Amino acid sequence: MCSSDLHVRLVDVDDAFAMRPDALDAAIRADLAAGLRPFFVGATVGTTSSLAVDPVAALARVCRAYQTWLHVDGAMAGVAALCPEHRGLLDGVALADSFCTNPHKWLLTNFDCDLMWVADRAPLVQALSILPEYLRNAASESGAVIDYRDWGVPLGRRFRSLKLWFVLRHYGLEGLRAHLRAHIALGAWVAEQARSDDRFEVVAPPRLGLVCVALRAGDDATRRLVEAANATGRVYFTQTVLAGRVALRFSVGTAATQREHVEAAWSLLGDLATQVA
Ligand SMILES: *Cc1c(COP(=O)(O)O)cnc(C)c1O
Repeated sequence: MCSSDLHVRLVDVDDAFAMRPDALDAAIRADLAAGLRPFFVGATVGTTSSLAVDPVAALARVCRAYQTWLHVDGAMAGVAALCPEHRGLLDGVALADSFCTNPHKWLLTNFDCDLMWVADRAPLVQALSILPEYLRNAASESGAVIDYRDWGVPLGRRFRSLKLWFVLRHYGLEGLRAHLRAHIALGAWVAEQARSDDRFEVVAPPRLGLVCVALRAGDDATRRLVEAANATGRVYFTQTVLAGRVALRFSVGTAATQREHVEAAWSLLGDLATQVA
């Protein structure tokens, strides 16, 4: 799919909704042949819709061949790499130019707090730094400090690292892992329920705390299920469209969510599924 007016290309995905490196390569070659110069590729580890994971190492090889910046967006899923058993999510990220993940999503930190890494900060700083006389100072000029004002568009910035520091201190690494693992186990439980109920179909590989389910009765029934469940005021689901099919996103990820809430939510869906079909 192309949106040539915007000079943004949406690259084809595979059956698991992950970006296809061959399709990326072809899109870059087509642009080069048209006299354009692709300079940035945005890959995702854990897409918003289905938590699909792009094959970052293979995409990095394509980007390297064409000297294109590769950014990896791990906004939601990236924090799961705190658990050794989920570190594979970050395979290939060391080959990327930049990576981000959001503690404000799934790591118990209040909005907003995003973490960004760059392999080489020089191009970022060269692109964004401004240095009027009144910002000059000895500490910056000697390289004694890093001026994060040169890493983004605004000059002023809030002290976000302080609240993250408190979260890290309060929960500790094991506490944060336990929080993530509890949600991941609940996600696996939901996937199991969905697979053993004939009325439902799991329409994307379940990952971490997210399971995308559709009713076999069809898209209209799935949409009615989302609406009916939300109308109870006891749960809130969003829907997505995957390979042309409407799916309900069962996402476990908020701080207060416990097993009992997830079980009650699944049982509610089970009751409503027959009514809406
Ligand atoms: C939530 C999400 C975003 C948006 O992140 P913000 O930093 O809150 O704007 C981007 N990418 C993915 C994959 C997300 O899940």
